[in-house]
Amino acid sequence: MVKTKFDNSKRTFMKKCLALSAGITAMPRSVIMNNVFNNEQSGRRIAMFQEETPRGIMCLICPNECVLKEGEISQCNNRIVRNSKLYTMAFGNPCSVNIDPMEKKPLYHFLPGSRAYSIATAGCNLVCLNCQNWTISQTRPDKTRNYDLAPEKVVEEAVKNNCRSIAYTYSEPVSFYEYVYETSLLAREAGVKNVIKSNGYVNPEPLKKLCKVADATNIDLKSFRENTYLKLSGGKLQPVLEALKIYRDSGVWLEITNLVIPSWTDKPDEIAAMCKWLSENGFKDTPIHFSRFYPVYKLEQLPPTPVELLNTAAKIAAGEGLRYVYTGNVPGNEQADTKCSGCRAILISRQGYRIIFNNITGGKCNKCGKVISGVWT
Ligand code: SF4
Repeated sequence: MVKTKFDNSKRTFMKKCLALSAGITAMPRSVIMNNVFNNEQSGRRIAMFQEETPRGIMCLICPNECVLKEGEISQCNNRIVRNSKLYTMAFGNPCSVNIDPMEKKPLYHFLPGSRAYSIATAGCNLVCLNCQNWTISQTRPDKTRNYDLAPEKVVEEAVKNNCRSIAYTYSEPVSFYEYVYETSLLAREAGVKNVIKSNGYVNPEPLKKLCKVADATNIDLKSFRENTYLKLSGGKLQPVLEALKIYRDSGVWLEITNLVIPSWTDKPDEIAAMCKWLSENGFKDTPIHFSRFYPVYKLEQLPPTPVELLNTAAKIAAGEGLRYVYTGNVPGNEQADTKCSGCRAILISRQGYRIIFNNITGGKCNKCGKVISGVWT
C-alpha cells in the first residue's frame, strides 16, 4: 500500500475528479498507455538531488525539501522512496503532449512564430488555488492516462514535427526534473532548444544545473507579498526571486508572467513594489506579461480581472522603467505587440498567438536600428 505523506481533503477531492485528467493531447492514441505505474512498478528512475537524513530521504530539488520515509510519496506527487532511495515516477510518461506556438507560453521575444513540442507529466510542487491545469498538476503519474515517450522519442517527435523547441510546461517541470534534464541534453545534441515554463520554485543548485541545458524560460511571479504567496500557492516568494536572479545571470532567455487576480494580487502598490524590484535588479529588458485571471478551480467565485486593472498594471510597469510590457488573456484587447524601446514603432504585431508582421531584422528595429532584447533567429 502506497502511503501519501501529504494526503489531505484536497487530494481526496482530486481523486474523484481524475477522470478529467490530461486534457491537452495531440499524439496518436497508439502511444497512450494507461496507468503505467502500479505500486510495484513505482520508481522508474533514481531521483537526482537526494540526500539521506536521520528522518528519511530528503529531496533537494525545490524549497519544499520533502523528507520521506519508505513508501511515502512527495508533496509534488511524483516521487517515492523505495528500498531507501528516492525515485521519480515522472519519467518518459507525459500525460499532456501538444504542439504549441511559442507565443502561448507566453514567450514573445524568443523565436517568435516558432513551434514548441510541449510536454507535461502529472505533479506539481505548489498547490495554487487558481491552477488552470489542476487535473494534471494535483495528481500522480499513476492516476493519469500517459504517453510512452522516452527522452529520445520526445526529441525525435519534435524534429519530425518541425518544432524548434521542446517546452516543459502545463504542470511543473521542476517536479519532473530528471525527465526535463535528460530530454534537454538530447535535444541540445539534436539542435533543438529547451523551454521551461515554471513557477520558479526551485533550489539554486538544481536550477544552475538546469540552466546549462535550458534556452528560454517564462516564470510565474505570482505575487510580491510573502503571505499572499503562501495562501495562494503554498510557496514562498524569496526562492522565486532568487531563481529569477539565477536565470538572469545564466544567459537563459527570461520572461515573467504576473497573473492579476481580483482581491488577491491586484493592489497597485504591490504591483508597483514588484516592478520597482525588477527595475532595480537588472530586469528592465525582461518582458513582463500581466495576465487576466478567469474564474477557475478553487477561485471560481471570483470575477475575471477587469481589463482596466491590467492596463493600470502595464502603466505602473512602464513607469518603473520596464521596457517590454504586455497584457494577455484579453481577446481583442491585448497589449500584445512588441514595440521598439527606442522609437516605439510596432515591431511585431500579434493577433492572439498569430504573428501579423515582424519588423525585427538581425535583432534590431527596422526603423531606428535599436537592439531589441531577445532571441530572434
Ligand atoms: S521537487 Fe517534489 S519531492 Fe522534491 S522537494 Fe519539491 S515537492 Fe518535494
